[in-house]
Amino acid sequence: MVDKKQNVEVRDQKSISKNEMQGFLRHLSTKRALVCPVDTGKVIEFREVDIALLDMNQGSILDATRILDDHVSYKSIKEYYFPQTELMFTFENDDIVDNKDIPGYAIFGARPCDLEALRVMTAVYSTGKYADPFFHRRFEANFLIGIGCKNLKPECFCQEMGVDKEFSDFCDVMLTDNGDCYIVEYLSEKGRSELDGYLRDENHPLGFVSAQNHPPAVAGTLFSKRANKIDEPSPGLRDAENAECRMQNAEIRGGVTGELEKSFALDVEKDDTEYFDIIDWAKVTEMCKGCGICTYICPTCYCFDFKDVSKKGTAERYKCWDSCMYPKFTLHASGHNPREHRHERYRQRVLHKYKYVPNNFDGVIACTGCGRCVRSCPVGVNIKDILKQIIEKNDD
Ligand code: SF4
Ligand code: SF4
Repeated sequence: MVDKKQNVEVRDQKSISKNEMQGFLRHLSTKRALVCPVDTGKVIEFREVDIALLDMNQGSILDATRILDDHVSYKSIKEYYFPQTELMFTFENDDIVDNKDIPGYAIFGARPCDLEALRVMTAVYSTGKYADPFFHRRFEANFLIGIGCKNLKPECFCQEMGVDKEFSDFCDVMLTDNGDCYIVEYLSEKGRSELDGYLRDENHPLGFVSAQNHPPAVAGTLFSKRANKIDEPSPGLRDAENAECRMQNAEIRGGVTGELEKSFALDVEKDDTEYFDIIDWAKVTEMCKGCGICTYICPTCYCFDFKDVSKKGTAERYKCWDSCMYPKFTLHASGHNPREHRHERYRQRVLHKYKYVPNNFDGVIACTGCGRCVRSCPVGVNIKDILKQIIEKNDD
């Protein structure tokens, strides 16, 4: 068996010291607003940070050590691609003025489950006639740096979902923890071009991998479909180019491809209705309060609604998160509601992730096992346990 850690150490020169991360973050913040996981005192969550405060070591919120800790954030990076409320356009007299004021963020510290969730969202929002220009613009404007997890946290089930907790290639640059330093991998042209200038500064104190030291096979194998041509079908969805990239990255990392088998998957060949009574949905969700938290904090939940707001002489249209756990989500104008009961709505949530998205997007499952919905449900509804029950029935 390959000793991955040992292999990584052999390649120590392609790394950045943890002591120098503050300088790295400072560099990231020169072009874009910096977003990092920060400790609010209650939760770890992604927030825009002021690097000047970070420099001054301002207490718990911007503690660089916490940024690098092996924690899972309460929410994911979703809102930097799909904000909770987003202005789409303004009606002014007879004109419709598109909102092109899309900020670009340097997002540091996304975990593999959230990177894979972004892959799902990219598939949904970038393909077919419903491609979403707002998502595209943010995707192109953002610069994304991932960090592998060292440990599974309570309620994580990424491995059952085929997600490698240490690695995802769905970002511009990936860092892998290696003790007192991080191994660095460029995964897009954007990643390379953004960091090359920085790394080429010979006066810079960082012992960071240079483009010259990077193996050409990796530096040149950049999944441009993902980063630069997002309007092409199925960006990054384990196509041949991406698979090649994974294998070359795996070589550096000592044989782990980031491609694991999914043990939690439903039979997508079955008719949808066969799942409607495969388990007692009312019983397994009897505690559910319909609060919708599970959908809001889920990195792959992407449903939204439109709201128009009128102001003197103008009106604005906003795209706002919605939740299939709310009764009005499916309420018809006639008064009929096809999913009147909570258990029907929860069933929809599960089947949408595990049956309908895979059917519509080439097998992609809209759950990465991040465990957030399990951790955050106020009454302990557990999607993992429910999936196990369905899979057991499937196997009968
Ligand atoms: S978080 Fe729990 S209680 Fe709230 S809607 Fe989801 S399953 Fe129901
Ligand atoms: S369904 Fe739950 S475990 Fe799966 S991605 Fe969403 S929040 Fe994470």
